[in-house]
Amino acid sequence: MNEVKATIPDVITVENVSKSYVTTAVLKDININIRSGEIFGLLGPSGSGKTTLVKLLAGIASATTGEVHVLNSKMPDLSIMSQIGYMSQGDALYHDLSARENLEFFGSIYDLRGEVLSRRINNVMSLVDLTAHLNRPVHLFSGGMKRRLSLAITLLHEPEFLILDEPTVGIDPILRKSIWNRLKELCLSGTTLLITTHVMDEAEQCHRVGMIRDGRLLAVGTPEELRNTAQSDTIEEAFIHYGGIRHEN
Ligand code: ADP
Repeated sequence: MNEVKATIPDVITVENVSKSYVTTAVLKDININIRSGEIFGLLGPSGSGKTTLVKLLAGIASATTGEVHVLNSKMPDLSIMSQIGYMSQGDALYHDLSARENLEFFGSIYDLRGEVLSRRINNVMSLVDLTAHLNRPVHLFSGGMKRRLSLAITLLHEPEFLILDEPTVGIDPILRKSIWNRLKELCLSGTTLLITTHVMDEAEQCHRVGMIRDGRLLAVGTPEELRNTAQSDTIEEAFIHYGGIRHEN
């Protein structure tokens, strides 16, 4: 098992990365390797630095010190943006347009058109269970529906590396399960995923988890390794063992 893993290349590397804003150190000497085709979870409470790290990986911010490589490119690098899908916590939707018009607009940015675009729109909207709302203007959508549409847009250009910042906030448990099933399918087809979460049961679904608090990486491993080493029954107890703090879901 370990021998097989050793042959899987790292496609994302974060080496000795720190990030400061004026006088505030937000990330402190972070080292992470993410393997091709894995779901890597970044678990930590609000304010721990998850979004800041994700912005470095998405190429929309630069590290103060250290290096970030994504798919063999040193970040930030505009030329590989089409291979990265990034869903932030906020929504970047055009509220006066319909869901379809939003998808067509973002599809055109990635040069998708015609039948390919139509097929992909149908696929991603079915995945997030919004097919019936394709022609409705987004200002009529609930918060959860906007979240799902943002996810659909992120998946539209079939990126090699998908970064999802708290993707299931505001999404009901049944749909959350079906989205996780689809994310697992994507990873089986070769997509590498980084998902931030503060929800412990989501962390359990990742291949490996990095636990972060106050800008420091506390531990990295499979959920099982993290629980076993901490002699804990749950990821939450393990998180506390490694120096995290208890927090509400
Ligand atoms: P998380 O995603 O885990 O909630 P963030 O990465 O958003 O954490 O934030 C980590 C810390 O960095 C917080 O204390 C936040 O206030 C601070 N921070 C984030 N962005 C900025 C910024 N542009 N300027 C100053 N501080 C920031």
